[in-house]
Amino acid sequence: MKTLPPGSTIGILGGGQLGRMLSVAAAQLGYHCHIYAPEKDSVAAKVAAAFTCAEYYDSDALIPFAEACDVVSYEFENVPVGPLGLIKDMVSLFPPASALNIAQDRVEEKNYALAQGGVTAPFAIVNDRGDLEAALDKTGYPAIIKTIRMGYDGKGQARVKQGDNLSQHWHDTGRKPAIAEGFVSFSHEFSVLLVRGQDGEIRFWNTPHNVHEDGILAVSTAPAPQIILDQEDAARALASKMAEAMDYVGVLTCEFFASDDGPVFNEMAPRVHNSGHWTIEGAVTSQFENHIRAICGLPLGDTGLAAKSVEMHNLIGAQADNWQELLSDGANHLHLYGKGESRPGRKMGHVTKLYF
Ligand code: AMP
Repeated sequence: MKTLPPGSTIGILGGGQLGRMLSVAAAQLGYHCHIYAPEKDSVAAKVAAAFTCAEYYDSDALIPFAEACDVVSYEFENVPVGPLGLIKDMVSLFPPASALNIAQDRVEEKNYALAQGGVTAPFAIVNDRGDLEAALDKTGYPAIIKTIRMGYDGKGQARVKQGDNLSQHWHDTGRKPAIAEGFVSFSHEFSVLLVRGQDGEIRFWNTPHNVHEDGILAVSTAPAPQIILDQEDAARALASKMAEAMDYVGVLTCEFFASDDGPVFNEMAPRVHNSGHWTIEGAVTSQFENHIRAICGLPLGDTGLAAKSVEMHNLIGAQADNWQELLSDGANHLHLYGKGESRPGRKMGHVTKLYF
């Protein structure tokens, strides 16, 4: 295990709110973050020590970035893996690139979970429009079409009922290789949040109960209701097997449906996750701090709850405009990500409340 002393530079690929919260956590431990992102108005760069604004494929920018960093991580699972080959002998990358390869492809991801003994929704590959009927015959109705790559927060998805115009759905999801996925009948959604250190130690945070609206996370609550706790051991066992098989380092999030037959694996994020934002105030050590600790080879912090219960609400679009009202409750922990424009569906911030 290589320990990086405070004062070292942590490179983060991706410039959104996750990079911003990682930079804040890193700064608290005395590290400097160097953000690498294509967007000029990166909200992570606004709180970081250095910023390279360049495309991921720009080797003239990527190589000096790697030279300037003591370790590199990422906050966005769609960072293209190809260019990372250029820097792999220059600097350690945590989590490993293999985790990105798996998470960027829904088929790989599901097969990986199945290979580790997990259960997924039934699915069939749809390479083009002509495959759609046969795929839906396999999964049954209702179903969801999800693009194999680049889908998140419900984007690149269409819900399909019997009798729908399939060509329209195919058009709406961008006519890209996709899967048809059978609809899972579930009572609750939850995520397993774990951190794995360079020495292989794994710690779990309390399992949050997640409520989505329009395919976007709206609320996470911990501790979760008993119905989720009854499925926690099986879900954690799968998540830790997956982490071990990838020789993973850092925070890993696996999302599940709580069905009558046990936990159904939906997807993984090889990074800190929105359903773990409550850990900033609601856990002894936040997901952001433990990610930094793991990639820097420091001892992991306590993941226990810091209150009897915690609730995190996302502020989507115009909901963030209520910041004054939210601050009028002195127990609210308000986080705004510094994004200029509050477009519909855009994650602008979140608010966390602890109950003692
Ligand atoms: P995803 O992008 O796969 O995380 O999907 C976003 C949200 O859509 C999930 O959190 C669920 O609320 C819902 N969803 C996705 N897949 C399924 C499924 N197979 N059955 C039922 N609901 C789903």
